[in-house]
Amino acid sequence: MQILLVEDDLSLAEGLQHALAREGITVNHVSKGKEAIHVVVSFPPDIVILDLGLPDMDGLGVISHIRKNKITTPILILTARDSVEDTVSGLDIGADDYLAKPFNMPELLARIRVLERRISTTAESNDIRIGPVILETSSMQVIIAGKETLLSKSEYMLLKTLMQNAGRIQTRNNLESQLYSWGEEVNSNALEVHIHHLRKKIGIEFIKTIRGVGYTVNKI
Ligand code: CA
Repeated sequence: MQILLVEDDLSLAEGLQHALAREGITVNHVSKGKEAIHVVVSFPPDIVILDLGLPDMDGLGVISHIRKNKITTPILILTARDSVEDTVSGLDIGADDYLAKPFNMPELLARIRVLERRISTTAESNDIRIGPVILETSSMQVIIAGKETLLSKSEYMLLKTLMQNAGRIQTRNNLESQLYSWGEEVNSNALEVHIHHLRKKIGIEFIKTIRGVGYTVNKI
């Protein structure tokens, strides 16, 4: 499971990342609202944990942007604010649950499990299928003719972008900036390396190279 943590308190964020990693949960962390929107719209995680008091914009604004983009990823609000109004507003505009700071880990984990159960009941409809290739958004696996293959995070994100935009060319810049937005160090041939690994896993024909421009997956 992948969680996007949006939190500008870096020591809290680091603590949460470590604690959740011990539970086998992958956490990507951003500290600004605009970054959060970019990441969620490009690659919706399984769950968003969102602090309401962010340096560049209000967390409530982040929620409304995400929902305006028709992204249904569950959002758990973390709020340090005394007033319940912000929490209620957050739930009204599309957050799924909230936790008041300070909170303890068992409680956070329990909330995450509830959201996770909700996802797994709806996950099937989120799978992306093109021809014989099914991308399972819940498990980051690709299934080709019934055979399951696990992808790395970067491979998964690239393939998801290509499949969601099937029939359209994705430029190198676009794909690289998406890798970069997830905190990956993008050196000059990182994209080629990921594409190479993907082709080894799903066959060389599926992802087409558009020479000098980028890559595409055909709509079938
Ligand atoms: Ca804050």
